[in-house]
Amino acid sequence: MSKYSQQTNQQIVLAARPDGELQLSDLRLENLAVPVPAQGEVLLETIYLSIDPYMRWWMRAEKSYNTPIQIGEVIVGATVSRVRQSRHPHWQEGEWVLASSGWRRFALSDGSGLRRLDPAIAPPSTALGVLGMTGFTAYAGLRNIGQPQPGETVVVAAASGAVGSAVGQIARLRGARAVGITTGQQKLSYLKNELHFDAVADYRAPDFVEQLAKACPDGIDVYFENVGGRIWDTVLPLLNTYARVPVCGLISQYEASAVAGDNKDRLPATMAQIMGKSLTLRGFIQTEYAATQLADFLREAGAWVSEGKLRYREHLLHGLEQAPQALISLLKGQNFGKTIVQLGATHD
Ligand code: NDP
Repeated sequence: MSKYSQQTNQQIVLAARPDGELQLSDLRLENLAVPVPAQGEVLLETIYLSIDPYMRWWMRAEKSYNTPIQIGEVIVGATVSRVRQSRHPHWQEGEWVLASSGWRRFALSDGSGLRRLDPAIAPPSTALGVLGMTGFTAYAGLRNIGQPQPGETVVVAAASGAVGSAVGQIARLRGARAVGITTGQQKLSYLKNELHFDAVADYRAPDFVEQLAKACPDGIDVYFENVGGRIWDTVLPLLNTYARVPVCGLISQYEASAVAGDNKDRLPATMAQIMGKSLTLRGFIQTEYAATQLADFLREAGAWVSEGKLRYREHLLHGLEQAPQALISLLKGQNFGKTIVQLGATHD
């Protein structure tokens, strides 16, 4: 009998489909037995759980690029986990791995999709953020779609967050000017003073339109779209001829019915600008580029992080029971940095 069989496993499932804003009652914490690995399997303990906006998107009934999470199913999510028991020839007990265990403390894996992490190279939690999916999203969206050139202006919204903070910094490393859109003095000053964005604009300020125009005296060459809605309205007239727009996310629309009074039809204005300014709008999901470009990213971004050229901030919470509120807060913009919930101890 292993010491893990004495412990209780916990998981969080979808209890009800959210209608508009996600509520705590839409999610349910369950206690169950810790599973026992069969031959060819490992038992993983989640140390860090990534909280990401897409989780809300996947709770919708409509099929998109994903299969919707069904009622009663565990919420999906990337994890940094440790191998606690192994009956698999390639994985040793104690190893750190990047996994997709979802919102649960213990999970079984047959090893497929696991990536080994070396805590001596970088703190393991970075595999969920700056050296993980969100950092790669910024890197791939700029490399393949935005393609910023030296001297060009790159604008990004949700700029203090996991993707946005990397977008601005990578744009600057490529020689472009970075302009960040966020709100609140703390986030605005973080972008300016710690990440060295060239300019910032506060989307909740009454003079946001003027602030953004002033921050972009030569117009916008690349707009990295993370938010949509009203921010798009302000960006659109400032786009230059041949501007590129990687459409990465639309977080302001994920809780659609919650966007009070914002049911404006943006299509005619958008199409007119696409035609008149020869714009390129291209949506993407980062997985599209992972097979061919993840190794480049890990090499390049790994060096930037260790040289202090690519900085990051983590918004860390503790305990699986905090995960629902962490996602709710993220969707309200109350996180500051890459949102991660720590579930297990980092030491043995
Ligand atoms: P963040 O860490 O940036 O957290 C979300 C931030 O979004 C909040 O802090 C808030 O910042 C902002 N926000 C939330 N609601 C609104 C709103 N209604 N209007 C304006 N801003 C809002 O999250 P990520 O960096 O993980 O994700 C950023 C975007 O990238 C999301 O749209 C996400 O879906 C997308 N994404 C897409 C991927 C892909 O493969 N295409 C992969 C990963 C992420 P603030 O305080 O500045 O308002």
